[in-house]
Amino acid sequence: MSDVAQLATRIRDTREPLRIVGGGTWLHGGGPWADAAPLPVHTLRGVVEYTPGDLVITVRAGTTVAELVAITGEHAQMLALTPYGAPESTIGAVIATAAPAPLAFGEFTVRDLVLGLQVITGGGEITRAGGRVVKNVAGFDLVRLHTGAFGTLGVITEVSLRLHARPVVDTIVAGTLDQTDRASLDALLPHLVANRAPLPMLLHRAAGGVPQLLARISGNPARATALQQQLRTLGARDVAELPPADITRTLHQVPADAIVFRARTHRSDAVPFVRAAVDAFPDGTLSYDPARGSLRVVLPSTASGSLERDLATMYRLAAATGATHPIAVVVDQGRTVAAPRHTPRSMLETGLKRAFDARDVLNRLAVVSHANLAHADV
Ligand SMILES: Cc1cc2nc3c(=O)[nH]c(=O)nc-3n(C[C@H](O)[C@H](O)[C@H](O)COP(=O)(O)OP(=O)(O)OC[C@H]3O[C@@H](n4cnc5c(N)ncnc54)[C@H](O)[C@@H]3O)c2cc1C
Repeated sequence: MSDVAQLATRIRDTREPLRIVGGGTWLHGGGPWADAAPLPVHTLRGVVEYTPGDLVITVRAGTTVAELVAITGEHAQMLALTPYGAPESTIGAVIATAAPAPLAFGEFTVRDLVLGLQVITGGGEITRAGGRVVKNVAGFDLVRLHTGAFGTLGVITEVSLRLHARPVVDTIVAGTLDQTDRASLDALLPHLVANRAPLPMLLHRAAGGVPQLLARISGNPARATALQQQLRTLGARDVAELPPADITRTLHQVPADAIVFRARTHRSDAVPFVRAAVDAFPDGTLSYDPARGSLRVVLPSTASGSLERDLATMYRLAAATGATHPIAVVVDQGRTVAAPRHTPRSMLETGLKRAFDARDVLNRLAVVSHANLAHADV
């Protein structure tokens, strides 16, 4: 029996709830989750099919992002994403969480790059959605449904991904903004929001540091020069390439104990939202992505000494400035241990869950009382 068939049998025969585990680094990202027996999938690794000429690769879901980079790099190709998190993140989890990627090439999101999936449902049925080619027949878009479902609708076991040719120039640069006061930030933000395409940018301020403007510069050398000039026009000084170690430290690592908070805002609300966050969290690291309107705050959990208070401040700030989709994740010793937010199920979600996992055995959500939430008063 193949290992996928064995996994399907385990799911079909289970009498207890199961928690799908890839690399296990972001288990509580979409929570709060109920306690459950682990269902490891990281052993499902390796390439199933790769035709570089078609710019499509099919891999098993436990393959890591680092492995994908190495395999596609041999053919001067790439997956146009560098999701938050460790290079050891599994691709199945990146798709299950629709992990956001700062400074993605071409501003692609996970949903743009997944062509097809093999998924085991909560009933233990092995199903396929989408295909292994860029063009596919129309129908219900189950690929996009499973992308970002946090494993609540099925276990992803195999994925087909759209790749891109690696451009001649593809680098991340950073320039310092001579704008530490509030008025200057107010002046810059509308320009950032308006200048979204074609330059993926990130306004970044490390704890206690000066704001920086980061950008992914890619294309041919002439285009790269023009894009760098665009950054200088926005006020970035001393624009220089970020070495790989600094990219990892700046964009992908979080302290071993921290709160990671993310919320989105409409462009017209960006200025008060970002400004309020800058004021509220002087000890936090802030990244604002103008293209997606999303702000990420990473706060060492020792910063104020009160996890509850920091969480409440974050949710209150989001509510006061009209920000949407607030998500907070508590990281403890490098592992995510909690996601204190209320996740009410809509009728649509409840119906989908019933269709794909009628017994509610896969990634069951915990019932959280309002009274127990740090942001209950928001
Ligand atoms: C330091 C750090 C910072 C991060 N910052 C952010 C951030 O700011 N925002 C953000 O959204 N993400 C963030 N992530 C998460 C990241 O983007 C990926 O989602 C994560 O790295 C996936 O890695 P993993 O294999 O360890 O996933 P795991 O922790 O194993 O799983 C993550 C989730 O996906 C489910 N899952 C795993 N595999 C499958 C599968 N095959 N099928 C179905 N469901 C599955 C799990 O049940 C779980 O709910 C961060 C991760 C780390 C380590």
